[in-house]
Order: sequence, then C-alpha cells, then structure tokens
Amino acid sequence: MLSGKKVLLGVSASIAAYKSAFIVRELIKAGAEVKVILTPAARDFVTPLTLSTLSKNPVLSSFTHEDDENEVWNNHVDLGLWADLFLIAPATANTLAKMASGEADNLLVATYLSAKCPVYVAPAMDLDMYQHGSTKANLETLKSYGNKIIAATSGELASGLHGEGRLAEPLDIVQIIQKDLAEQLPWAGKIVLITAGPTYEAIDPVRFIGNYSSGKMGFSLARVCADRGAYVHLISGPTALTADHANIKLERVKSAEDMNRAAQALFPKVDIAIASAAVADYRPKEMVSEKIKKDGSAPTIELVENPDILAEWGRRKEKQILVGFALETTNEEANAKVKLAKKNLDLIVLNSLRNDGAGFGHDTNQVTLFDRNNKRLETGLKSKMEIAQDIAEFIDREWL
Ligand code: C5P
Repeated sequence: MLSGKKVLLGVSASIAAYKSAFIVRELIKAGAEVKVILTPAARDFVTPLTLSTLSKNPVLSSFTHEDDENEVWNNHVDLGLWADLFLIAPATANTLAKMASGEADNLLVATYLSAKCPVYVAPAMDLDMYQHGSTKANLETLKSYGNKIIAATSGELASGLHGEGRLAEPLDIVQIIQKDLAEQLPWAGKIVLITAGPTYEAIDPVRFIGNYSSGKMGFSLARVCADRGAYVHLISGPTALTADHANIKLERVKSAEDMNRAAQALFPKVDIAIASAAVADYRPKEMVSEKIKKDGSAPTIELVENPDILAEWGRRKEKQILVGFALETTNEEANAKVKLAKKNLDLIVLNSLRNDGAGFGHDTNQVTLFDRNNKRLETGLKSKMEIAQDIAEFIDREWL
C-alpha cells in the first residue's frame, strides 16, 4: 500500500520523538519515500542527522535553510502538495491544539494547513494531558476535519505514570495506515479467482502435452485486481512467473484435472472468476508409468476430454461475475459470442492471433471485450498490464 508513496512525517516535541527513527525505517521498508519535518523543539529530542540519514532526505524544521550561499525558503505549500500522505507522529498536546485551531507558526503546522493529502495523527503525551478535556476536544475537531487519529496506547509513560498516552508502536502505526489505505481501495473485500498459464497433460513420467501459454495475462490480471484491493486466488499451470503481492495467493498446479479441482473448490466464495488459463482440451487416457521406449513402432496416444473449468463455473454460477477468454482463428467475433452464451459468461475477452505482438508469450496483447449486454470494447495493442487494467475497469463500469 505504501510502495512508491510520498510520505511526510511530522515530528513534534515529545520524548516519544525518538521512536520517529523507527517509524521512518518502517515506512522505508514498506517502500515509501519519506521526508521529515521536525518542530524546532523536537530537535532537542531527536537529531536531524539521524532522521536525514534514515530517510535519505534533508530534514526540515524551519521556514528557511542555508544552502552554500543563500538563505532558501522551505515552501510549506510545495511540501504539502508533494506528499501523498502526511503522518504526524508523535503529535504533542501543543501541536494538536495548533492544528485544531489553525495556527501556522512553525513549518510542521503550516504544512499541515496546506496539505491536501490524507493526514494521520498519532498523539503521545502524559496521562493527564491526554485525558484533558481540551486534548479530547482537539482530537474530535481534527477528526471532524477528516484527519485519522491513531490512538495512543496504554502502558508505562516516560514520566513514570502508568496509563494512556504512549505513542502507538512504529510498526503498528505503519500497519494501521496500510490497512486503512487498503480499505479505501475500490475492490476491498472482494474475492477474485483467476486461472492462468498452460496445463501439462502427462504422457509418461517425462513427457506431456502442453501449449505455449506463458501465464502473463493471468498474472497481470491478478496484480491489477490485487492492486484494486481484492483478495486474489491465482491458480496457475506451470510457468516461471511469480506473484509477489500480499493480496495474491498463488496455487501452482500441473494438469487440467488438478486446476479444475482447485478452481471448483474455491468458486462458491468468490465475487469474480476469470478463466485466462489455456487449459488442454484433451489428456492422454492413461499415463504410462515407465518412460515410453523407441521400438520402431508408431505408438498411438488415446485422448479423453478434460473438464471445462469455465463451463462448469457457468453451470454453478450464482452471484459471481464470470469472465472467459477466447482465442479464435476464424469467425472470431461470432465464435466468441457463442462461447459467451454457451458458458453462461458475463464477459468474454477475445484474443486475436492475427495481430503481431498479441497472444501467447508476448508482453503485449490486443483484445476485444464483449459482454452479455452487447457492450463492446477494443483495446488496441498494449502491455498485458494495461489490458488487465482495461478488463478490470470494464468489470467495474459494467458489472459492479
Ligand atoms: O472453449 P474454449 O476452450 O475456446 O474456451 C476458452 C475459455 O474457456 C478460456 O477462458 C479458458 O480458460 C476456458 N477453459 C476452461 N477449461 C477448459 C477449456 C477452456 O476453463 N477445459
């Protein structure tokens, strides 16, 4: 959630300011770019050098700084616009009061007033200050402005008192933000099932019937759906691809029968099911247990039909949005539409093998989408990630 995000961390003058170093580390580990603003008094608790070294950015704590020759204006408006997210941790009673009343007498609170991005506030102070009516009122005011409060926790305080007022732990702060951002994504709470890649149908222990599918389209779809906040079950036949995303659960299978078992087991609980796998239509009737030897004869392999995973989903469909792919060489559009109806799909994605750079193995693809309401979209030649975006947007627009 924080990968590539620009995060401004505002640190005010609490003893918990020492924990800001750990917050910077957690943000960086989560993939964020971090800039730190210290209030002037916070410099007594944590050094700019520590935070600039960890954040790999200069730390700002006043409206101006000196470069080699000149005094330079630290523009709070630019800083506020730079940030995708502003975290103020620790936020003291004093800083909360200034934020609530709109004061702008230091760089941190002036930047807060200018910021257009989501703001998270993690208070830290002594027990009685945290309990005080004015602090509570200020936190309520800040909430009413749309700021998110990461509540202080209970425990031993630096004063020696025991109670509420401890800054939430750095890892918890970052996880709370990640969870909150995830919940705001458009497909948060949705479950998507995707089949991808080829299937291998064993002839003997060393040979199989397979196809050229790389799995790139299905893996791109998984990534796009997960980036939209969905939880994705990705069932893939043999590929070299990996799915490095917290929201993607990858299950690797070999044969159509294995893929079918996994796909049918998961189907009842999903919201969207996408069949992008190139499933072998037939498999050898029997797998020979020893490697077949060359003996001058021309062996015959008897084939039997594999289960049609997508057609079975179509028969079992209740609330699920069902998406299939079609790869046609003749009467493309008509055949794709027949498939849409026959397999009880909501949407079919027609790959055209006529276009250079489209189809198996390529990083690009060119497809036409048809849905059961006769809506149609031609994508043009694009990367498979962009095609996956187009498919997800189409589902969003027409079916969610
Ligand atoms: O009928 P056809 O094989 O052309 O249909 C292609 C669509 O059906 C694709 O979405 C593919 O993933 C799916 N399919 C399947 N199981 C099969 C064959 C195809 O899920 N055995």
